[in-house]
Amino acid sequence: MPELSEAHRIVRDSMRRLGRERLAPLAVEADRTGSYSEAIHRLLVENGLFLINVPAEYGGTPMDLTATCLVIEEMGRVDGTIANTVAHHQAGLCCFLVGADEEQRARYLPLIGRGDYLVGFALTETGSGSDAFAMRTRAVLDGDRYAVNGSKCFISNSGLTDVYVLFTTVDPALRRRGVTAFLVEKDTPGLIVGKAEDKMGLRASPTRQLVFEDMRLPRTALLGRPGEGWELVFHSLTRTRILVAAMALGIAQAAMEVAVGYAGTREQFGRPIGEFQGVSFMLADMAVQVECARAMIYQVASQVDRGEEQQAYHASIAKCFASDTAMKVTTDAVQVLGGYGYTTEYPVERMMRDAKATQIIEGTNQIQRVQISRELLKRF
Ligand SMILES: Cc1cc2nc3c(=O)[nH]c(=O)nc-3n(C[C@H](O)[C@H](O)[C@H](O)COP(=O)(O)OP(=O)(O)OC[C@H]3O[C@@H](n4cnc5c(N)ncnc54)[C@H](O)[C@@H]3O)c2cc1C
Repeated sequence: MPELSEAHRIVRDSMRRLGRERLAPLAVEADRTGSYSEAIHRLLVENGLFLINVPAEYGGTPMDLTATCLVIEEMGRVDGTIANTVAHHQAGLCCFLVGADEEQRARYLPLIGRGDYLVGFALTETGSGSDAFAMRTRAVLDGDRYAVNGSKCFISNSGLTDVYVLFTTVDPALRRRGVTAFLVEKDTPGLIVGKAEDKMGLRASPTRQLVFEDMRLPRTALLGRPGEGWELVFHSLTRTRILVAAMALGIAQAAMEVAVGYAGTREQFGRPIGEFQGVSFMLADMAVQVECARAMIYQVASQVDRGEEQQAYHASIAKCFASDTAMKVTTDAVQVLGGYGYTTEYPVERMMRDAKATQIIEGTNQIQRVQISRELLKRF
């Protein structure tokens, strides 16, 4: 793993303190009730978690990708839901910062700079997940306004979000070249926010459907030019995939620590179970995977920070490996804790449920493998 600077270490340590002391005690209850925690939200706002990468002149905290990953990793360490909330705001914000014109920046950045104004990322539809270009939410120019009809699903932070980066098509037959992005404010007539999905994990993170019924948008709501919406997604994917990898890493690290602590104290046959090779090798494998994931994530993040932007291949590898690691480590952590691991008395069952989502969001791991193998075939 590349050496962290003093500034990076300060970010990591302050986030670790915030996580351990203030957020962790609230995470269990939020998962149990399955509803977004107002108390957690207040802490995220007070500590400027929604200001990350907002330009400084608007009150924000610009950070490089390494620092942003450290924040998300530390959030993932206490609660996947919190990491998901912050990461998906970053996904929307990144598209906004790439695509917004001067007027849009002047309108929205003072709002986003308040620290409690969330940006959403709305791409997935019921019929178009992995195949994003098959989207059907259509924007038709009618006079001087666009009429938007269709729906999106699985949109993180829906209901909390103040402005959505919405991806539509001006013509489904054009596939990629039809994708057109808009900024849609939450109270726009014709926008209906559906009920929250009852999910396996990330339970306190609201994931909802958005429905658009003859929603009218002015041309000034266009984010970028018609037909160029995919450029925004493409630009943000490298970063957001690395952020999801960092979230997975945080979950895996936390599960490993619980497993190691338990294995050192739980006795069977008169000895701590960590002394049995069957258990200790499981712990060792956790460390191997966690450290490899960490090295990979911070290597690619530092390459992006050095201006080597063409990192989609390594971002996919990091996302794939870190999320598979999170799934394996959390599952093994449940195993190390035996029956107790299977109960809510310990956090590893929650971590296992949360880890699963990291293999699906920001492109499933099958899609990462499709992209990695395509690139491989080009390179060798
Ligand atoms: C908790 C959560 C939060 C989310 N938040 C957001 C959000 O904020 N915004 C947003 O836009 N979306 C969001 N999503 C949606 C997410 O990005 C999609 O679920 C994901 O891209 C997969 O799409 P799908 O669910 O339609 O699965 P499908 O695309 O239908 O895939 C089903 C299965 O088929 C496999 N598959 C598909 N195509 C191929 C292929 N070519 N080769 C091999 N296997 C393939 C997939 O890997 C998967 O295993 C979220 C999802 C979850 C679970």
